[in-house]
Amino acid sequence: MSFDPASEIQDYLVFGEYGEVNPSINDSSTYTFLNPGTMAELFEHEIEGCFLYSRHWNPSNKYLATALARMEQTESAQVTASGMSAIACSLLQLCSSGDEIIASRTVYGGTYALLKNLLPRFGIQTRFVNLAELEQVEAAITDRTRLIYTESISNPLLEVADLPALSGLTRAHGLKLMVDNTFSPMVITPALHGADIVVHSLTKFINGTSDCVAGAICADKAFINALSDVNSGPSMLLGPVLDSFRSASLLKNLHSLHIRMQRHSRNALFLAEGLSEAGLPVFYPGLPAHNGYALMQQISNAGYGYGGMLVVDAGTAEQANAVMARMQAAEVGYLAVSLGFYKTLFSAPGHSTSSEIPPDERAQMGLSDGMIRISVGLDEDIERTLTRMKGCFADSGLI
Ligand SMILES: *Cc1c(COP(=O)(O)O)cnc(C)c1O
Repeated sequence: MSFDPASEIQDYLVFGEYGEVNPSINDSSTYTFLNPGTMAELFEHEIEGCFLYSRHWNPSNKYLATALARMEQTESAQVTASGMSAIACSLLQLCSSGDEIIASRTVYGGTYALLKNLLPRFGIQTRFVNLAELEQVEAAITDRTRLIYTESISNPLLEVADLPALSGLTRAHGLKLMVDNTFSPMVITPALHGADIVVHSLTKFINGTSDCVAGAICADKAFINALSDVNSGPSMLLGPVLDSFRSASLLKNLHSLHIRMQRHSRNALFLAEGLSEAGLPVFYPGLPAHNGYALMQQISNAGYGYGGMLVVDAGTAEQANAVMARMQAAEVGYLAVSLGFYKTLFSAPGHSTSSEIPPDERAQMGLSDGMIRISVGLDEDIERTLTRMKGCFADSGLI
């Protein structure tokens, strides 16, 4: 794909009130009206450039949302206080009691818990399937199905979703395709492959500084307007509003996202190749041996690589823990969950998110308790990092 999301964002110029190049931060929960008629009208429908109350919309959130819509090539977008609220509000907008969701069996732990434990309390059921098996997916569709939910690059095996094939299915059956693109901003643009709703945890790569939690929903205007409808919109009524100060700092960080993603991807590929050559089982969609490699050639945006996430299998949970302790001591990075930081972060996804999958299927999928998930940092000297990492695996007797 020759699409360049960075150019899209850079073409969006914001002129501040005083000509400032960073738009002023709107430090206000409410807005004045010049006449009472406008207020009544605004309760009925959106009026361009008019604000009512900050939980509904505020200018700082609008600037960030507009930039993200450009990046994701959707008509509109909304920002939220977390990735989870972006996911939850979108699902509640799409589904009512009695409806069904088809979701990938390997999704982020919080999303899995939402689908598996919380939404059934409201009569919304989820069927978890292997999205790579299209016949399985199609067989799971019923007249109650509303959407297919997937991550563009999944946790923990970094499987790449076949978005063109999945959107073929959703279109044929009148469903929506909802994609969590948190692992691959700029690398993959799901809307260009038929996704209807693209959600993000801005907490990760997009913000990139691990100093806040935030989320986004990118979709068409009708969907975003419905989410913020004053009488029925989940975002408006559940109220996960993002603070204006955070919106403003996120927008500033967004402007270096392309450079950071390029470096995260370059460093991750270097480590994936080096660790794999050293004989370790490595999962990275930029390695020709990975099952998502061919699909990445087809759907990823040229120039952004294969993303900054890498998984290495240390065999057992004990060995994974030993390697991670050594990597932290060797200053490779931090033993911490989350991703997208300037420094490398690593953790063991272990049993937690995939515990529902039967043992034989886990083995067949290549899921192991020894997996170490690594969010590769922006290291300038990545050769030094590879040497340190190999030392940690060697000291643990794995190479
Ligand atoms: C972190 C994460 C989320 C949840 O986002 P929060 O900002 O923590 O609420 C959702 N999906 C994926 C893939 C994530 O990594």
